[in-house]
Amino acid sequence: MSERFFAENLAVGSRARLTGDEARHLAAVMRAKVGDEITLLDGSGAEFTGRIVAISKSSVDLNVVQRRELSRELPFELTLAVALPRGERQKWLVEKATELGVTKLVPLETERGVAVAKDSSLARLHRQVIEASKQCGRNRLMEIGQPLPALAYFSAIGSDRLRLLADPAGQSLGQLAPQSQAGVHVAVGPEGGFTSAEVAAAQAAGWTLVSLGPRILRVETAAVALAACVALHHG
Ligand code: SAH
Repeated sequence: MSERFFAENLAVGSRARLTGDEARHLAAVMRAKVGDEITLLDGSGAEFTGRIVAISKSSVDLNVVQRRELSRELPFELTLAVALPRGERQKWLVEKATELGVTKLVPLETERGVAVAKDSSLARLHRQVIEASKQCGRNRLMEIGQPLPALAYFSAIGSDRLRLLADPAGQSLGQLAPQSQAGVHVAVGPEGGFTSAEVAAAQAAGWTLVSLGPRILRVETAAVALAACVALHHG
């Protein structure tokens, strides 16, 4: 079975239980049987083999029989700080950022921001990360950070990190020399854009303004484009 399933805190020799949609999917759609082996992840960086020992209507029990260290992470830490869009576009952004290998997503609170990142919406985004990770083969989950005010965030990140702020008036991203910093932070503003005070604060803190071309991109497009370019060029 090529599909992967998620459970918390897996360890060889212990039991795991799938419930809810995952259990139903295994039992009803994939017609799993006792003795079948499936691939599991717990988000900690490894992949596991689980052997099914019991199936009921609402749960599937497994013995965890093997652990494989299998990293599909970027060779550096990539943090995406973004003023989240609403609804489906937010979901899309989280899915794509997970696929592209973003290490951590920080919801940025900006003056013109629209989405309020409540605990319930952060939990929903975390579930989105799990779904995307199952599909794309990632064994370490993208972290969803606590929301932070943009100004505080800009000044908190040290100069040992490459810090790029997406701004249509910035220098072309393609002209930026490849760098070898320990980590990269990229920031993307809300649909209304960062205010000039926010941009000035980032610049004062040493962030570089980078342009993604002459067209105005939506928040999630800019975030995904920037993450993809950085992943390619700074890996
Ligand atoms: N109304 C704003 C655009 C906001 S687009 C304006 O006219 O400036 C939302 C965010 O996406 C921006 O804050 C910026 O961070 C990023 N963005 C959009 N298009 C971009 C581009 N061509 N280059 C760099 N960043 C871009």
